[in-house]
Amino acid sequence: MDDCIFCKIIAREIPAEILFENEDALCILDINPIHFGHSLVIPKHHCRDFLEVKPSTLSGLMNAAHTVARATVEGLRLDGFNIFSNNGGIAGQSVFHFHLHITPRYQDDNIRFLLKLKKYRNGEMAEYGKKIRTFIHQNP
Ligand code: AMP
Ligand code: ZN
Repeated sequence: MDDCIFCKIIAREIPAEILFENEDALCILDINPIHFGHSLVIPKHHCRDFLEVKPSTLSGLMNAAHTVARATVEGLRLDGFNIFSNNGGIAGQSVFHFHLHITPRYQDDNIRFLLKLKKYRNGEMAEYGKKIRTFIHQNP
């Protein structure tokens, strides 16, 4: 993808602070971190969102995330961390090449994901379960 910033970083056309790479993924520091040490785990092939990640690269991608999460916890002596991904503009995605965020967390860092949790009413949970199960197709 010609105008994709993460493809350019993967091709070494623009600089980034690289933490780790394997055959399937590149891990870099986020340029605007929630906390210093916030990193991004990026598949090496261009894909817009999680659904476009090639199934054959999922294992390499998660292995890279695991390796970098462990190094971040040890290197920065973290109390905890979040792994998340925004998929679609409505979900907060701003770079449309899939990536996982790994963000350091500390005691009393006052970062809150403001969520208003719902309760299922009678039968609703089964209804939603069915709606999703109907479309389960396992990766080859
Ligand atoms: P999202 O909003 O979930 O799509 O996340 C995109 C992330 O990419 C943001 O946290 C940005 O700070 C980060 N970002 C954008 N451009 C760069 C760049 N050139 N190098 C490192 N991180 C970047
Ligand atoms: Zn890309």
